[in-house]
Parts: sequence; structure tokens; C-alpha cells
Amino acid sequence: MALVKAIRRFTVRTVLPEPIRPLARLATNLRWSWHRPTRELFASLNPALWEESQHDPIALLGSISREQLQDLANDGELVNRVQGAAADLDRYLSEPRWYQGLGEDAPACIAYFSPEFGITEVLPQYSGGLGILAGDHLKAASDLGVPLIGVGLLYQAGYFKQSLSRDAWQQETYPVLDPDGLPLTLLRHPAKDGAQGKPVHISLPLPNGRELHAHVWRADVGRVPLLLLDSNVPSNDEAARGITDRLYGGGGDHRLQQELLLGMGGVKALRVYQELTGTPAPEVFHTNEGHAGFLGIERIQEAMSDAHEPLSWDEALAAGRASTVFTTHTPVPAGIDRFETVQIKHFFEAGLAPAVPTERILELGRENFDGGNPSVFNMAVMGLRLAQRANGVAKLHGVVSREMFAGLWPGFDHSEIPITSVTNGVHVPTWVDPRISSLARNQFGAEAEALGRWDLAYNVSDEDVWALRRELRAQLIDDVRRRLRASWKKRGAADAELGWTDSVLDPDVLTIGFARRVPTYKRLTLMLRDPARLKALLLDPKHPIQLVIAGKSHPADDAGKKMIQDLVKFTDDPQVRHRIVFLPNYDIAMARTLFPGCDVWLNNPLRPLEACGTSGMKAAINGSLNLSVLDGWWDEMYDGENGWAIPTANNNASSEERDDIEASALYELLETQVAPRFYGTTVAQGAGAAGPSESSRETVPTHWVSMIKHTLANLGPAVSAERMLHDYVNNLYCPAAVSGRRAVAESFKEAKELAAWTSKVRSAWPGVVVEHVDSVGVSEEPQVGDTLQVNAYVALNNLTPDDVSVEVAFGRAEDTDELEDIVVAELDSLEDLGGGRHLFSGSLVINRSGSFGYTVRVFPKHSALASKAELGLIANA
Ligand SMILES: *Cc1c(COP(=O)(O)O)cnc(C)c1O
Repeated sequence: MALVKAIRRFTVRTVLPEPIRPLARLATNLRWSWHRPTRELFASLNPALWEESQHDPIALLGSISREQLQDLANDGELVNRVQGAAADLDRYLSEPRWYQGLGEDAPACIAYFSPEFGITEVLPQYSGGLGILAGDHLKAASDLGVPLIGVGLLYQAGYFKQSLSRDAWQQETYPVLDPDGLPLTLLRHPAKDGAQGKPVHISLPLPNGRELHAHVWRADVGRVPLLLLDSNVPSNDEAARGITDRLYGGGGDHRLQQELLLGMGGVKALRVYQELTGTPAPEVFHTNEGHAGFLGIERIQEAMSDAHEPLSWDEALAAGRASTVFTTHTPVPAGIDRFETVQIKHFFEAGLAPAVPTERILELGRENFDGGNPSVFNMAVMGLRLAQRANGVAKLHGVVSREMFAGLWPGFDHSEIPITSVTNGVHVPTWVDPRISSLARNQFGAEAEALGRWDLAYNVSDEDVWALRRELRAQLIDDVRRRLRASWKKRGAADAELGWTDSVLDPDVLTIGFARRVPTYKRLTLMLRDPARLKALLLDPKHPIQLVIAGKSHPADDAGKKMIQDLVKFTDDPQVRHRIVFLPNYDIAMARTLFPGCDVWLNNPLRPLEACGTSGMKAAINGSLNLSVLDGWWDEMYDGENGWAIPTANNNASSEERDDIEASALYELLETQVAPRFYGTTVAQGAGAAGPSESSRETVPTHWVSMIKHTLANLGPAVSAERMLHDYVNNLYCPAAVSGRRAVAESFKEAKELAAWTSKVRSAWPGVVVEHVDSVGVSEEPQVGDTLQVNAYVALNNLTPDDVSVEVAFGRAEDTDELEDIVVAELDSLEDLGGGRHLFSGSLVINRSGSFGYTVRVFPKHSALASKAELGLIANA
């Protein structure tokens, strides 16, 4: 072992000979990470070094000798390919795409803030689903021409690398990344007098007279620039330097400072970037999860400190909200950042937002509602208050979020809480196996591939589908054997003991995958609930299954590490170790082989805690079938023929009972449905008696294959990140841009008006009362189709009928008098009764038999509000 360790590392960038110089640009634009031809070009430069560099173009170029580079530069055919690839990249970067065909409501620029971005294993700035989603969001935006700019942090060590001790305990290491060796460019001011321009420098004041400085790195994700702030700069003191040391490293102040840098520093970085490059200012700000929420404070600070026309707090808030979209990503309380209010106060009093009254900031995150803790500052709550539009990440998660945050809109029905949903998606070119795209291309042509003709899956022969599945499984098994041996060597085993790893897993056995982060709710070890039953499934002579498992536990989560340990100890048993493996260090590189290689993708979270889940989507686009609890995306997309639903125990069961019931349902599905169908037992009965590697395998299991085709054809378009981007653009970005523009037009006329109106309405509201309601027209025996005239006498305090909407809500009346299946109709203002009292009236048609009820409610109405619940004010009869 080398005992001399570097205290600082740097990477010397290769100077490429002129004819192949475009390789540098091809290596720095991350489009290579999903553009197969560019990857193939890099691989062909030196296949051995490509493997050694772990498919990292910059590392590859740095490791090719000068002699070989010169040889490459003299190779006319190669030079042509390089030039061709560069021209293709230029075309991709400049040609009009989907977004360029949209109307003028489409924003000129959208800023997308996220605490993590998972784009490629080469830039390990992600811990799991949230980061990968953000990466897929940028890639799909690029493909569609959406003018997005990403904003995040550059973590010196990213997330940790996972290995195992001999005793199967998770070990974490944090190899330090050298930004110069990454596909990043330091953002600089323009060069002057032939000298390189100075790096862009962002500063935030910290308590005790300290300052936090950061540089800004730019990654190019196709057409989308991603700005990453880095506090590891010489002008910082030691502590400030460490702020961007690692992803989700420390807690408390460390975490808070990361988030201040991300949100507030991020807006500052954007402004400099805009100025340097002449790109238009963002018209929409997308806060991807609460962690990035301080961006809203920085924008309020900008507006309140404007030199010409400073806005008031209320005006700045109204203006900022109009153009902000907030996405909440988890119903798990531990996933939501909560700080002590005094902590937030301490930092803001250092002068982070000098024009903004600190008390106002504290109010934004305060949990001053039923079930909240008023001394806590909640980042999700602030996110919701700073954004006029908000969403969850799957339909079910929308429902759960509306319930979870209902306290912010007291008096409203859960269905009216202004949180919508956009179901996540996955970037297909990143996640579909190259073998699948080449099959599609060979059989149907490049155009069908480009058009995303998933329906053509039905036209592929059963034999081709089945043969491809086997290839993908075999490819995974090669990777598993390599990784398993490496893992055992790290655990201290000698090569001589490891012969068995060369034959683990069987390319003809039903392969089931389970890989994701290991928080408790994802229940990594549910499959171990009845170890004997699992063992029997693995070793079944006719219908064996094999399992490939991976996942990192948060370094501070010992319960997660214990689950990994329990699982690994089970896999260490010589009786089953050829059928079940745990692979350490789950990352994008592993995932890309894992999803395609698995026949079945397993997911068994505690419903409804999985907000969306995307790994099952990645499996689906590769023809794997999902076997999952009906949670997240699967709850809305399972259709009976694209996989299996693991039944959920009812909510009254204790957690132990729940695990028992659900594990047993899982085993049963595997035994009676999944395995028999995979082995085509129904058609090839008897042939399997000789064991799994005999001729029984020759029959194509037609039902299984038809499920694969159905999955590809139906889920392919539904789970793609392009569909997700279409939804964000149409349902959130365009409306936010329209609101935002209206708010700021004519020197913030509408924002000012809305702010003044809101404050008038808020102070009048306690005096808004539905005093009396009567109805005429219903006979002794009302019938369906009868018309009912409703009169409501409402005290409006000093508000006018134009300030409010008075509606009748009617529906089925429950025993508790709660209304279900509500329909609403607005009542008209009929008469000013004097003394602030008004008569509103309207009619409704009784649309159902049985128990029927109605009520009258009043809420504020203004054209600049995006929903009737927006102000959280309602007066119910
Ligand atoms: C897709 C993906 C995830 C997210 O998986 P979920 O099942 O949605 O939690 C995490 N890590 C990696 C490497 C992934 O590719």
C-alpha cells in the first residue's frame, strides 16, 4: 500500500491535436451520457482505456498517450467521425425542438433549483431518486428544447461510496472529487488584456462577521446549463470551505448553510450568469423540494431593495409567488427539512436579506396550524407559501400531500387544497438498454425509434423478445459476478476462496431486482420476513427465482444499516448464495445494467409513503414487469396486465401485522403467479421435471412475453420524462409565466394591487359571515330533476360582492353531515341589503336520489389568484 498520500489533487487537462480537438467539447457536454453514438465514439478511441476509465470521457482523454492521440489525429476516418459527431452536437444544441413550436405564453427561461442532480456516475452529485429525477428533468428539457437553467451545489465528495465490512456492516468513504477532472467549466468574468478572466464570486454574510464565498461551475447537460456553487475556495475560512463538502452530510447549521447557499447564492449566481451570457432572465422559478426554498427569499430581497422602486413585503411576495412553482417530493416526515426558528433568525440577522424583515421570513416557515410545532421552521411549508403553484409527484402523492398540508388551508375540503400532481418520468435515452434500441432500430428504422413508437413492440416476434431478455439477463449476471468478487475482496476474502462467485446466478432463472435507498419505509428486508419460505422460492427445483439487491443506507441511519446487514448475512449462506446477491455501491452505472437485466422489479414500500418511485419505470421501459405495492406511480399505472400488485394490509393493522400480511402476499404471488408464468408451466408442463436448465426453457412463455409487449407499448410513453416535461410546461410553467408577467407588468401594477387587496380582505375577513340561507322550490317529496333556488344572506363587512365568490356546494350527505361527491355552483349577487349585508342567489338541480345536502361558502375572489383556496380564507355557512 502506498503510504504517501496526496493532500491536494489536480488534473492536467489534455491538449488534443487540432484534427481531433472537438473531442474535448464532446467530452464536456454531458449529452454523451445518453447519446449512444458519442459514447461509442469514445469507446472506439481505446476500448481498454474506456473500460479502465469507467466510461468517463474526460478521464479517457487524459489517459491516452500523446503518441496515440497523434495516431488518432492522423487517422482520416476517425477524424471524420469526430467532426461528424461534433456537427451533430451543434445541430442538437441549436435546432428548433418541441418547445420552439409553443406559443408566447411559454416562458423565455425557467430556473430549476435542486439540492442534487444525478446525471451520470461521472458526476456523483446525487443520493437517490430525487437527484436522478432532477437529472432526467434537465435531460428531457434539453431534448425538448425547454429553456431551463439548473441550479445546485457542487459537493466535494458527492454522496458516499458504499462497501461492506466482513461482518456486512455498511462502510462509507468519501473520495474527494477534483472539479478540474470533472465535466465542468468554471464560470469566469470575461478575459482582460489577454489574461484569463477572474472566477465569478458569490458571497453571503454569515453570523459573527464571517462571510461565505463560492465559485460557480457550469455543467452542460445538452442544451441546458447547470450552475453548481462550490464553497471550497481560498477566500473562505476552513468552516465555510466545508459547507459544500458532501451531500446531506452534517445536520443542523451545516445543512442550513448549504440550503442558504443553494437558494440565495443560487439566485445571485443566476443573475451573474445571465449578465455574462446575455440569456434572458428566468420567468419561472421551480423549487424542486423544500431544500431549495430560500431562492424565494432572495427574490423578495431583490424586489424590496430595488434602487428605483422598492416593493413592500406584501408586494414582493405577491410578485415572487406568481412565477414560482414548488414541487414536494415526500410524505415521509424525516424527508422534510425542519430547522429551529431561532437558528433561521440567527442566520438572517447576519444580514442575508437586509431589506426583508426577519420576522416575515420566520412566519413563512412557521408551523402555525393544527398539528404543527410553532417553534419549528419547515422548509416545505415555506416552499408552499412562496409558490402560487405546487405539486406532488404522482396522483396518489397529490392526494396524500393535500391531506398532509391541509392545515395551511383550514376550512377547505381536501380536494380543494391547491396542490396538484405531475407524475414523475424517466429519461428514456438514458435508461433504455442499447440492445433494446438497436433491436427497435433494426426492425423498424431510426425514425420509429426517434418518434418513440412504443406500440411497435407488438410487432416484434415472441422469439426475438425472449432471446433479447435472455441476453439482458446474461449481461447483468456478468456484471453481478464481477461486482460480487470485488466486494468479497474488499470484505477480506482471498481470490482462492472466491471461485464460487464465477457461477452465481443462472441466465435461465427468473431474475428479480430490488435496488433503492434504504430508509425504513422502503422495507428492504420484507422479503426476509419468512426466511424459510424465501429459501424455498430460491431453491425451488421447478420454478426457482434469483434476487439481485442493492442500496445505500443514509450514513446516520443505523436501522437501515442493520437491514443491509441482515440481508447480506442471509445472502452469505452457501446454500443460497448462488441465487441471491447484494451488490454494494448502488449508482447510475450499476442501475443501467440492473434494470434491463431483471425480469421482475420488486417494490414493497409502506403505502402511501413512496411519493412516486422511478426505478420501476426504468425497469418497465426495458421490458421488466413490476411486482409492487400499489403506491406512487404504480397505483395509477398498474392495469392488471403489466405486472402484479402486492395487496396492502388495511391501515388498522400494527406494523408487525402489516409486514406479515404483505410479505405473505408477496410470497404467494411469486409462488402461484409470477414464477409459473415465467417458466411457461401452463404450456410446457412436465418438461421442467429435469430442472431449470433443461429443455423446458425452450418454450417461449407466451403469456409472459405478451405482458412484456403490453408493458412496453403502454407504459413506455406514460413513464417517459418527455411526458413529464410536457405536463410541467403545459400545466405549471406556462401558467406561472403568464401570472408572473402580469404581476410585474407596468411597474408591478398587479402585484401591488393584489397585495393591497389581500391585506384589505384579510382584515375584513373575520366579519364575513353567512348569516342565513334559505331555499325555495323543493316540495314535500323532492325528486331528481327538481330545481332548488338557494338564497344566501351574507355580511361582507366592508368588502364588495366583487371581492368574493359565494357558492353553493351540494352532494351526497353522509351520516356525519359531511358532503361527498361535491358539485359547486356560484351564486349571483342579487341585492345590496344595506349595512354591509348582501343577498346572493342561484339555483341548482337535484342530481341524485337518496340523501342530498348542500351548504353555502364564501371565499375571496381576484383574477390574480390561481385557486379559490389560495389565501386560505373561507366563510362556511
Ligand atoms: C432510479 C434510481 C433511484 C430511485 O429509485 P426508487 O425506486 O424510485 O427509490 C435511486 N438510485 C438510482 C441509482 C436510480 O437509478
